[in-house]
Amino acid sequence: MPEGHAGEGFFATKLSDVVGLARKNSLWPLPFATSCCGIEFMATMASHYDLGRFGAERLGFSPRQCDLLMVIGTIAKKMGPIVKQVYLQMAEPRWVMAVGACASSGGIFDSYSVLQGIDQIIPVDVYVPGCPPRPEGILDGFMRIQDLVAGESVRRRSSEKYKELMQSYGIK
Ligand code: SF4
Repeated sequence: MPEGHAGEGFFATKLSDVVGLARKNSLWPLPFATSCCGIEFMATMASHYDLGRFGAERLGFSPRQCDLLMVIGTIAKKMGPIVKQVYLQMAEPRWVMAVGACASSGGIFDSYSVLQGIDQIIPVDVYVPGCPPRPEGILDGFMRIQDLVAGESVRRRSSEKYKELMQSYGIK
């Protein structure tokens, strides 16, 4: 429950907190999985770890319906514009997780063809370390996203600071 004032028969809190509570427990992930980390994500969705317990049962493969982009695996420079296009097609509010060393920093592939971290093209909210990260690590990253979502003001996306962040990526 969010913080607030409770009495007999009533509970009052901030609108932001109620919206955050609903959003954090109904995230729709869009898994953009390209390589070996994707296998760990499959385990994360399966019955033993079961991401559905966190309200994220429904994976979406249409960017227009999802609000959490999970980039999982190596992203080649050629693929960068596609990742960005998917991000741009998602409606606000949207969050981004870089899952594994490759998505976070290029990982072991310090080469001419691999993007050295997806934060070179889109803003990232949570980085999950590991090559590959274990499902527990992915779940932990997901819970960090939930913390961000729950604590986010409903006005953040229209703030000057957020617009500046978007402009720094060439996004209007
Ligand atoms: S971080 Fe490691 S396991 Fe994950 S995609 Fe890169 S090389 Fe594969």
